[in-house]
Amino acid sequence: MNSHLPPIKILVTGGSGLVGKAIEKVINEGEKRSNETWVFISSKDADLTNLEQTRQLFEEHKPTHVIHLAAMVGGLFHNLRHNLQFFTKNMAINQNVLQCCDEFDVHKCVSCLSTCIFPDKTTYPIDETMVHNGPPHDSNFGYSYAKRMIDVLNKGYEQEKGRKYTSVVPCNVFGPHDNYNLEDAHVIPALIHKVYLAQRDGTPLEVFGSGKPLRQFIYSTDLAKLFIWTVRHYNEVEPIILSVGEEDEVSIQDAVNAIVRAFDFKGEVIYDTSKADGQFKKTASNAKLRKYLSDYKFTPFEQAVAESVDWFIRNYETARK
Ligand code: NDP
Repeated sequence: MNSHLPPIKILVTGGSGLVGKAIEKVINEGEKRSNETWVFISSKDADLTNLEQTRQLFEEHKPTHVIHLAAMVGGLFHNLRHNLQFFTKNMAINQNVLQCCDEFDVHKCVSCLSTCIFPDKTTYPIDETMVHNGPPHDSNFGYSYAKRMIDVLNKGYEQEKGRKYTSVVPCNVFGPHDNYNLEDAHVIPALIHKVYLAQRDGTPLEVFGSGKPLRQFIYSTDLAKLFIWTVRHYNEVEPIILSVGEEDEVSIQDAVNAIVRAFDFKGEVIYDTSKADGQFKKTASNAKLRKYLSDYKFTPFEQAVAESVDWFIRNYETARK
């Protein structure tokens, strides 16, 4: 099968992270085509903030395609403390990776933006045309501006070099291999870890903030499948939002309830409203994705949460935390 297709080699930066591991799993479970070689790398293979190490990596693997996931990533409280680092590290990584894609004649590079980098003051739903329309939320301005510059780089590489490098815009991702660190994690992995400890220790569950903000969450397996589709079939330079629909937006409290149910946690749940809520909502439209893939079925939220909780319990000793 696929023997008529030319051989391609896909290098996945950030291959050891939440999204990279999900892509690897989907590929290894039958999605790989016979003309494809997939290489998943982590910071142990190269520090992508360093141009020479990045060059050596590209020299070694000579990829024809790149899925560029590597980034300094973190939740609200990590961002609030380290905007400068989020900006400088991510700028360096993105410039080096895209420069090497061009130098080594990579045909296609798909990089990763995020729905949390869109303007703070905006109309809803957010769509792909609005990335640069105004300042991002104060809490994560470093990460946001660095991510937005990927789109600037992609447009520049098209204009000056004729390259077709593009980006996708996922909403909040969660799943196995997430970062479950209580200080730095995104909301779902942080809550999963907290409920685990509250249940184990017989203590109340303390949730930061009011629980009222609204979010769209995508299961890492779904995002992995959409990423693979993007690298094979999406040929625009303009970004594309990879998200569940607007109708699937849930409150943080809904997410807490789903996790509590998955653990069958019976203890008290306390919302600490002295802690920051972050942006109230960032509802994104997946209409562009739906134009291409009208039939894609997302994993139901409750099922995805239950699978993630199950993974965390089984892998508690070795999980990133
Ligand atoms: P993770 O934090 O799980 O993984 C980050 C990956 O980047 C790891 O493989 C890490 O390697 C690698 N990395 C970090 N710094 C460097 C470096 N200096 N050199 C080489 N590799 C490095 O991230 P996610 O999987 O959650 O995110 C993947 C992409 O998706 C990112 O671009 C992120 O911005 C984007 N995204 C994520 C969302 C989310 O909710 N998680 C939402 C929207 C977008 P190592 O394991 O060795 O440290």
